[in-house]
Amino acid sequence: MGEKFSFALYTFGCQMNKSRSEHLLYLFLQDGFSQAGRVEEADVLVFNTCAVREHAVQRALGVITNLYQNALRRRGIPPLLVLCGCMSELLREELLKKLPYVSILTGTQDFEALPRLVLEACADRRQRVLFSSPSPHFLERGYRREGRVSTYLPITFGCDNFCSYCVVPYTTGPQRSKPKELILGELLEILQEGFREVTLLGQNVNSYGKDFGNPCAFENLLLGIEESFRGAPLWIRFITSHPRDMRREIVELVRESTLFCPYFHLPLQAGSDRILALMNRGYTKSQYLEMALFIRERIPEAAIGTDVIVGFPTESDRDFEDTLEVVQRVEFEIAYTYTYSPRPRTKAAELKDDVPQEVKRERLEVLSKVLKEGYIRRLRYHEGRKAEVLAFREDGKLVGKTRENLRVLLEDARVEEGQFSKVVLEVAPEGKLVGCRLPE
Ligand code: SAM
Ligand code: SF4
Repeated sequence: MGEKFSFALYTFGCQMNKSRSEHLLYLFLQDGFSQAGRVEEADVLVFNTCAVREHAVQRALGVITNLYQNALRRRGIPPLLVLCGCMSELLREELLKKLPYVSILTGTQDFEALPRLVLEACADRRQRVLFSSPSPHFLERGYRREGRVSTYLPITFGCDNFCSYCVVPYTTGPQRSKPKELILGELLEILQEGFREVTLLGQNVNSYGKDFGNPCAFENLLLGIEESFRGAPLWIRFITSHPRDMRREIVELVRESTLFCPYFHLPLQAGSDRILALMNRGYTKSQYLEMALFIRERIPEAAIGTDVIVGFPTESDRDFEDTLEVVQRVEFEIAYTYTYSPRPRTKAAELKDDVPQEVKRERLEVLSKVLKEGYIRRLRYHEGRKAEVLAFREDGKLVGKTRENLRVLLEDARVEEGQFSKVVLEVAPEGKLVGCRLPE
């Protein structure tokens, strides 16, 4: 149907969005559209957007305008502009004013309809705006292209947590969990297609199944996966684990499994109990520390990742020190850090954004330094350790990843993409890890 048209797809934001874009790509290709060789030559420009921070919105608006203008100049006729995702969902009216030439504006719910809408708009050149309510549809899955090693498998959609700073519950709707049978079926396909690593995705993955009234459904799911796939050449990860919903049983299941990888992404956000309460996170500093240290004790080689926000309204130096203390004690292997950005519709936006930009920037610098020091200390544990690595391509280069999600430079040129091998970890300057291959 779409044979006559080429498209280019751009994705902003989190893994969930990347996974949704894989699905979108699949839908367009299935309907006969082709991928444009060069963006400026595409008949259809599709942008899957993010609205988590104001910076992401401004960046997306800049990129969209630039690419649209370039394509217009190059082709002489305007390309069809399609906007979807969280930014569209949040800023509907504003976007129609800022980008009046948008052809199709839709949010996070109507991906299946997009190829048809694009065909209709190619024919009549009329603008279409479509925002449906969240539905319990579970069609969405990553389009698994040949030759790839890793893929995503979304297992929940939406979020009900309403952390006071976050737009996600407003842009994606309440949590909907994918039925276990569907997940097992998709995992089988992933294995049969030759993938070696899959990441189960959810905004709060360990609250899987709460929406069908079972608070321990995530453990049941992991057990079901373990029973069905034990011994398969597949690594399975899950992100993001909310510290409030992290249970010791989940850690024990990972400890005993050969399928589930010991990487826990456990966003701290802040260390001060007062700020955590204002953020509506549902845990305290000591509860967070207790869980992180439990992981360290039960699975000593496990890696822990985190997200931290600095400069939340009213955050004092004393509050910030609490964050630093947690960072020093846990020694995170992976961390994403942000300065607080007030978002429309959220509870925190009612508070005065009273931490000056300058202070936010300084705190971010201090935090990065303390994170780095903790990481370097933690490397002493990993140095000299035997580890299994999976080789994959990143920007054309072959690199390795351990089960614990640590990036490793590979010394052995004979390793091929998708291959597992055993290495000894060594630490190179700048804290980079190098994997020296062990004899078979
Ligand atoms: N669901 C995950 C969680 O609970 O951590 C991740 C959600 S969000 C897409 C990714 C990260 O963006 C959050 O963990 C948080 O650190 C950051 N973030 C979200 N809203 C923010 C805001 N208003 N300002 C700064 N950072 C924000
Ligand atoms: Fe946003 Fe909190 Fe939901 Fe994560 S858990 S998506 S931070 S509301």
